[in-house]
Amino acid sequence: MSAPLHYVIIGSGSAGFAAATTLRRADDDCRITMITMDGLPFYNRYDLPQVFHGRHDWRDLLAVPPAFYDTMRIKLRRRSRVVDVDGSKQLVSLAHQETVHYDRLLVCAGGRGYLPENLIESARLMHGFGSFEAAMQLYRDLPKGGTAIMIGGDMVGIDLALTLLETGYHVSLITNAQTFWPHKITPDEQSVLLRALEAKGMTVFEDHRPVGVTRDNGGQPASRVILEDGSEIAGDVVMSFCGLTSSVEFMLGADVDIERGLLVDPELRTSNNTIWAAGDVCQIWHDTEKAYKFFHGWENVRVMGKLAARNMLGEHEIFDVNIEDRIEIDADGQLNSTFWVHR
Ligand SMILES: Cc1cc2nc3c(=O)[nH]c(=O)nc-3n(C[C@H](O)[C@H](O)[C@H](O)COP(=O)(O)OP(=O)(O)OC[C@H]3O[C@@H](n4cnc5c(N)ncnc54)[C@H](O)[C@@H]3O)c2cc1C
Repeated sequence: MSAPLHYVIIGSGSAGFAAATTLRRADDDCRITMITMDGLPFYNRYDLPQVFHGRHDWRDLLAVPPAFYDTMRIKLRRRSRVVDVDGSKQLVSLAHQETVHYDRLLVCAGGRGYLPENLIESARLMHGFGSFEAAMQLYRDLPKGGTAIMIGGDMVGIDLALTLLETGYHVSLITNAQTFWPHKITPDEQSVLLRALEAKGMTVFEDHRPVGVTRDNGGQPASRVILEDGSEIAGDVVMSFCGLTSSVEFMLGADVDIERGLLVDPELRTSNNTIWAAGDVCQIWHDTEKAYKFFHGWENVRVMGKLAARNMLGEHEIFDVNIEDRIEIDADGQLNSTFWVHR
């Protein structure tokens, strides 16, 4: 009798979690290992703005109790960073020297916030919001009623911004090409959406290019964004929400094709026969448009995770998107987006 196959999943976010549970439900015998840099088991990062509504216990955010992984016989390796994948030897190398052999590998490494080149030097003076720890840090550092300066304002940022306004803070938004990302909208549509945000109390700065951030030790307010024309915008914290850049660095030696994300065919298989990818990390071939495309958004990501799992098990399903992409203001002046899960 042959040994059960070992499926290794890099990433424990929406795509990785959906894939792992799909694999186990379809195959009771296989080995499943999930490797993640995260300290916490899977939680929906969509819920992070809730820290401003008082949800401060990480246990409340978890999608499933920690015991779920034992019950499902999914080995979850937390705080483990993959630094290399050898596609020919089928080995994943971790930062602490260990290697893990796989029969089939699924990369669900997602992405991290894209920071415009001219702001990279200021990164250490900005707050992130990509994890529970970062969200709590922001909550602690933003004084009650204080001002958050937001550069860009993609849909993740706008969600947080609306939560901040609802909970008594101020938001100054400096728009750029990524405002309302991943929605693709015309300048006229953008203008309507920005006016709706102003009506909710947001201060909007259009046509300004930030070139740096400074922080006054002990000063009030503590931070300033310096604009190209020399003027400054003051606030308590500065954050950048400018869309995503895929986490692919560790795949450079994996013998797979990469453009901005991992390139996969419509079955979500990379150019290496034993490696698949799903979620924000991959660009999928779109035959009608003859191009590789990202398909961001919670529904896409989960569909991809499940589909990749079934295809790793031998199916040949195609990622055939028909998921609505819409942003609008309703009759009550509320911003609605198909990107948002809860709002
Ligand atoms: C605050 C916030 C709010 C959001 N709100 C929405 C929303 O309303 N709607 C929506 O559609 N999307 C939203 N998003 C985006 C959404 O979370 C992502 O699109 C989704 O999580 C992508 O899932 P994923 O599984 O592809 O990757 P991710 O969830 O990003 O997971 C990536 C995983 O890969 C791991 N990883 C990466 N590199 C390595 C490595 N080298 N070694 C080991 N592990 C690695 C990470 O630790 C993580 O576990 C939000 C994101 C944030 C941060």
